[in-house]
Amino acid sequence: MANRPPLPSEGVNDTVTRIRAFLDTYRPPTPCLVVDVDTVVDRYRRLATAFPGSRVQYAVKANPHPAVLRALVAAGAAFDVASPGEIDLCLAAGADPASLSYGNTVKKPSAIAHAHAAGVREYTFDAESDVDNLARYAPGSQVSARVLVQGGPDSVTPFGHKFGCHVDEAVRLLLRAAGKGLDPVGVGFHVGSQQLDPSAWDVAVASAAKVFAATAEHGVNLRRLNVGGGFGISYSDPAPATSVYADAVTAAVRAHFAQPPELVCEPGRAVVAEAGLVRSEVVVVSRKLPTDPHRWVYLDVGRYNGLAETENEAIAYRLDVVGPHSQEDGPVIIAGPTCDGDDVLYQRTPYRLPLSLRPGDVIDILAAGAYTASYSSVAFNGIEPLRTYCISEGRLISGE
Ligand SMILES: *Cc1c(COP(=O)(O)O)cnc(C)c1O
Repeated sequence: MANRPPLPSEGVNDTVTRIRAFLDTYRPPTPCLVVDVDTVVDRYRRLATAFPGSRVQYAVKANPHPAVLRALVAAGAAFDVASPGEIDLCLAAGADPASLSYGNTVKKPSAIAHAHAAGVREYTFDAESDVDNLARYAPGSQVSARVLVQGGPDSVTPFGHKFGCHVDEAVRLLLRAAGKGLDPVGVGFHVGSQQLDPSAWDVAVASAAKVFAATAEHGVNLRRLNVGGGFGISYSDPAPATSVYADAVTAAVRAHFAQPPELVCEPGRAVVAEAGLVRSEVVVVSRKLPTDPHRWVYLDVGRYNGLAETENEAIAYRLDVVGPHSQEDGPVIIAGPTCDGDDVLYQRTPYRLPLSLRPGDVIDILAAGAYTASYSSVAFNGIEPLRTYCISEGRLISGE
């Protein structure tokens, strides 16, 4: 699986080439994440083109680096924010508060008040207490109900049952919101992150359509459908093309809505993942016994300083060994640098690396721009958070 050349997904190779040229000249200490901001903008534009007429809201949590946000503001993106901190980051990057949507359904009254004072006028809820808090602390705002997606295919990193409510509860809460002077605009959902089965959207859009029909019977006419994020990208397993996702969403909306609603989509991973590369160094290569078939390969990056999504081996990153190596390879177990037994990246997923691999060798982790730096711990084992360097036109524009 690993150590095979990048998949022929257009743009990835150019991005990797540009990032490596930067790394060759700048030589930052490893591990580090390098984000090619031009690729971020390119992926945003591709999504906006694939979903014509839709509002594309970048889910900030995937990579909240200020240089990423500034580039997306300049490209005209809207943003899905989850906390006062993310709101402030977007505003500092120059975003118009009207382009922010507060999609997290778990929020304190103080967070709502902060968002409202900042000018945020769009919120999502899935619980009665949140509706009441919104009516009180963000009066008159546009609100949507998030519905639970049930019965669809699982994604690679599912949200489980944490977010969203049943269709009937969404109807009740939207009517309650209307009664409290809020502006109930629509329904949202998320089919799970790195969703490789585009048919997942059909199940969810069908639920949303039920909510539209039921509220209309009570005189509340919804107009906006937020189809969430979840669009996959190619790691070791290839993902469908953006156009395949867009066709599936469009077909689902056509099948379940007589009158097409305003569409919103909220990609996180699909905007930033392919724009980033994590450069890491091999620290130790060992065998528990000289006769063991498996080598253990310990890297300077692991679960706690950037590769959180290797939990349960959910995301199988493409690894690319840099420099001349033997053609011959062998099976490996790959682990991170900390003194934590869970800091093992891959032991079930069959990775192979060259037999010539030695401490000090460099391994690039491809398509690592999403959910890496933002998931990095502050100082576990004294290891600093994953440093991010942003480049544009091959040059450093922001390094932290
Ligand atoms: C995380 C999140 C997204 C983005 O999901 P991806 O799988 O990265 O596209 C979108 N909307 C909400 C509400 C989220 O929490």
